[in-house]
Amino acid sequence: MTIEDLYSRYEEIIPDFKEFMNILQKPQRLSIRSNTLKCKRETILNFLNDFKLKPLRFYNDGYVIENGSGIGNHFTHQLGYIYIQEIASMIPVIVLDPKPEDIVLDLCAAPGSKTTQISQLMGNKSLIVANEVDYKRLSSLIHNVKKCSLFNESLISIPGEKIGDILPNYFDKILLDAPCSAEGTIRKSKKILYHWGIKNIQKMSRIQKGLIVSAFRALKPGGIIIYSTCTIAPEENEGVIDYLLNKFPEAEILPININDFKCRSGINQWQKMNYDARVKNCVRILSQDNDTAPFFIAKITKL
Ligand code: SAM
Repeated sequence: MTIEDLYSRYEEIIPDFKEFMNILQKPQRLSIRSNTLKCKRETILNFLNDFKLKPLRFYNDGYVIENGSGIGNHFTHQLGYIYIQEIASMIPVIVLDPKPEDIVLDLCAAPGSKTTQISQLMGNKSLIVANEVDYKRLSSLIHNVKKCSLFNESLISIPGEKIGDILPNYFDKILLDAPCSAEGTIRKSKKILYHWGIKNIQKMSRIQKGLIVSAFRALKPGGIIIYSTCTIAPEENEGVIDYLLNKFPEAEILPININDFKCRSGINQWQKMNYDARVKNCVRILSQDNDTAPFFIAKITKL
């Protein structure tokens, strides 16, 4: 399968489709997050003097690193002073906006890019419950949590579908960075071209629906869930949000604004499907707009 075979499925819902296709063929920019839980930002920047860093306008701790080959072996990375993280992947936690007093659930947490980012924004205070069902991936989560010096996390390993029954109405904020068909990872690796398929998209959509229902049950009234994927398929994005809205009259979708970062609205129609009008409040991050990976983000509350 070629890049064109895969993404032409989305031509009608992606504005500036040619630009989108062109940028997908370019390698992903390397970006990092400074981990101020471990070291002062200025000190980290001094340590990285030999690298050309460009600060991200929308996030104080995010940088594009222009000559970053070897950064994975640099001592700042080995010691957890920096975390290598794709630019768009930093956005869900920024929108979640966790505060030091919040009780937070990271439902699908490994390898921990976003768990560690959440803890940093919470100043290592209060509590994050970080869950990962896959035992092998759990070890990468444990490694990163230790490396980045998190003290406010509790790690668990259960199917995310169960948490809503175990801890109903418990969390102030929940991140559901869902397992997905990962169509947006193409700039990093071409692997997706070998295992992409409609059946997989449908399977992922079923899993995501189970997870979002569980997350919604676990959310306190007035709390916030951020649902995110790194895929383009509407079945895994607006389709999942539409399912939630149909199932729970008390679910609402809130608008998302990120300063200095261009986003597009969610789509209401896809093939023969019409989604709830409120999915327009979700955002689609398209690669050509900010030179990132594509992402989908929804901000949900419980009335
Ligand atoms: N949030 C992570 C980060 O930023 O580092 C990435 C999460 S990745 C997109 C999705 C994760 O969900 C995978 O690690 C996968 O093993 C996990 N997962 C898959 N099915 C799950 C389930 N039923 N319950 C909980 N986690 C699940």
